[in-house]
Amino acid sequence: MDINCMEGSRTASMEIKKNEIYTLEITGMTHEGQGVGRIGSFAVFVDGTIPGETVEIKIIKKAKSYAVGKLISITKQSPHRVPPFCGSFPRCGGCHLQHMSYKAQLSFKTDLVRESIKRIGKLKDVQIHETLGMENAFYYRNKAQFPAGLYQGQPTLGFYASRSHDIVPSPACAIQHQVSDRVRNIVREYIVENGVSVYDETSREGLVRHVMTRVGYKTGEVMVVIVINGKDLPQKEKLVNMLISRVPSVKSIILNVNTKNTNIILGETNIKIFGSDTITDFIGRFKFTISPLSFFQVNPVQTEILYEKALEYADLKGNETVFDLYCGIGTISLFLSDRAKKVYGVESVEDAVEDAVKNKKLNQVENVEFIVGEAEKVIPEMHSRGVRADVVVVDPPRKGCDEGLLKTLVSMAPERIVYISCNPSTLARDLGYLVENGFRAVEVQPVDMFPHTYHVECVVSIKRKHSD
Ligand code: SAH
Repeated sequence: MDINCMEGSRTASMEIKKNEIYTLEITGMTHEGQGVGRIGSFAVFVDGTIPGETVEIKIIKKAKSYAVGKLISITKQSPHRVPPFCGSFPRCGGCHLQHMSYKAQLSFKTDLVRESIKRIGKLKDVQIHETLGMENAFYYRNKAQFPAGLYQGQPTLGFYASRSHDIVPSPACAIQHQVSDRVRNIVREYIVENGVSVYDETSREGLVRHVMTRVGYKTGEVMVVIVINGKDLPQKEKLVNMLISRVPSVKSIILNVNTKNTNIILGETNIKIFGSDTITDFIGRFKFTISPLSFFQVNPVQTEILYEKALEYADLKGNETVFDLYCGIGTISLFLSDRAKKVYGVESVEDAVEDAVKNKKLNQVENVEFIVGEAEKVIPEMHSRGVRADVVVVDPPRKGCDEGLLKTLVSMAPERIVYISCNPSTLARDLGYLVENGFRAVEVQPVDMFPHTYHVECVVSIKRKHSD
């Protein structure tokens, strides 16, 4: 095997070859947490590396202008490198950044946000705070989804490997609530003891597809959803008994029928086989009903921090009309309702709005109204009827806000916009638009909702220019 070196002028014309070993200096990181270096004109991406490191890599993929390398060894190690906490790293597709100290992960996220705001949004004078991390960055997820499959011929409930649907067993997950692992081990025991088949994506045969758990962090209630490629589960009373006798906090067990050839985990039909159809949890003082299909933020501790920041940036005095756009099951709308005159929540998924209305009643809130529809259609229509918001909160999916919606917000001219975003690139694009059209992006607070992964959430304070 050749050992090539990237130093000096040799690299400029260097032709790189698949399956060969090279020495590479890592000089940057992609937004998905891969280290990047250069060999000649090629950008080379390597999982599990950190800027400042010199590494030996094997080229496993070569495209026209870039290549992908596999880490072989580290010649010069970053001071931010730590031993990974999980035996399934780096095969498991879950926690890509666990080779970096938590402090370095947070800096990576802050830099990513800074870079996007500067490069894509072309904004210079926005204050970007350090990412708010967790005191205890483990066991934070309230929702686990374990795909079922065979691993070395044995039925396994694990996780998908990075960029594939191969199952990695990962017997104990350090970011899920620990009760989720207990539940999955019991379900696996039941599968093995009763000879129940697991689903095979290629042949589309086999019964159990996924096991999903949802946990109310404040109530302790646990929901177990068994996703099946069929209508019933054999010996299901045995499974129910095993679960409720060994995990008394299980309050709901549901069979979810999904017989489609799809990557979407849950089907539409739910059959309750124990307890209630829903569990509950709290965000702040508000109580929420959670059903198998409803969207609920997965990191309850950081959600409160994010929402508190949104509330601070909304700066409500009590007499405002507020729009909460992309409102999901109405969590932010209720959170804001205490301090506003009226809140309108707008959400495109009908089921989510039904949950939002239930949550409003559950909490005896009067001054919130939920509307089903796409924000880019509902808001122009409301605006043309003369409904105007003083403060607008937006929390769009990864693709960001529709330009038509931003246009309407510009002509509606609310005093403040609070933008919550899970994608720094589309956030930067939308901020650029708002700043060009009469608003000022004042400050950005990144919040670490997903420790050890490359995801970062931001909440942004935006003000109408003349209102300062
Ligand atoms: N604010 C909520 C949910 C945010 S997730 C919370 O904090 O829990 C984004 C939500 O936007 C999803 O519920 C999705 O269904 C909804 N959505 C996606 N496109 C939309 C659109 N064009 N108009 C309104 N809602 C939309």
